Amino acid sequence: MSLSGKTAVITGSNSGIGLGIAREMAKAGADVVLNSYSDRDEDHALAADIASEFGVNARYIGADMSKADDCRRLITDAGTCDILINNAGIQHVAPIDEFPTAKWDAIIAINMSSAFHTTAAALPMMRDAGWGRVVNIASAHGLTASPFKSAYVAAKHGIVGMTKVVALETAQEPITANAICPGYVLTPLVEAQIPNTMKEYDMSREDVVKNVLLKRQPSKEFATVEQLGGTVNFLCSDAAAQITGTTISVDGGWTAL
Ligand code: NAD
Repeated sequence: MSLSGKTAVITGSNSGIGLGIAREMAKAGADVVLNSYSDRDEDHALAADIASEFGVNARYIGADMSKADDCRRLITDAGTCDILINNAGIQHVAPIDEFPTAKWDAIIAINMSSAFHTTAAALPMMRDAGWGRVVNIASAHGLTASPFKSAYVAAKHGIVGMTKVVALETAQEPITANAICPGYVLTPLVEAQIPNTMKEYDMSREDVVKNVLLKRQPSKEFATVEQLGGTVNFLCSDAAAQITGTTISVDGGWTAL
């Protein structure tokens, strides 16, 4: 399958899943626009590396997905957006009565509201181009809950709901909108949760991985960024043209439990 001639904008893609998706899409021939809130030489170098490795156009655009204007500017600066991957996300873990309001606001803004703003800006471009794909990176936590993750679970359920609305509003156009719901993927976001959990439960790293992180993942394996990129590419293929308004779990069986 070739994504040659298509431009993909991937939010939050200087690390982890977003970067992995960008690489898989570039491998399939797409031009890619990388993003995060920073604007460092190494961010732009990531795009240059993808361009030289896969022979596609790749750019990095700094824009803060916690800010509505930046979300919309990312899409207008990209100039064209055939495929929009809403991936930027952060996490904070605390009981609800101790959950800092600022963290709640940031998680709702970055993990959910950013997708509203980018989608609103990108849909007219997709309509002009006569083809489009919106893929929202939700989570198993978009379908189930865990304690201490109130903002994250609320934002991820919210983005699954918004995905369905986008699908209905574009149902009679050659545009689809879907959400991918990964289980645990070993990225910096997950790595950052390991030391606190080791301390909290007085456990080794191996025990945290097996008995805490992968407790609800029956395969007992992390999903990989390459698998998520492959799932995105499938959703961009002709075979997926009638798949819209739904979720695809890449979670080693988590949501089957
Ligand atoms: P990560 O921390 O490696 O990557 C997050 C990306 O978002 C980074 O590029 C970061 O710079 C960017 N980002 C953060 N704040 C931003 C902001 N204000 N503006 C623009 N970009 C910003 O984490 P990840 O694990 O790759 O997570 C990517 C997405 O996948 C998130 O939405 C996350 O909720 C989701 N997810 C991750 C897992 C997992 O196990 N890793 C599981 C399910 C869902």
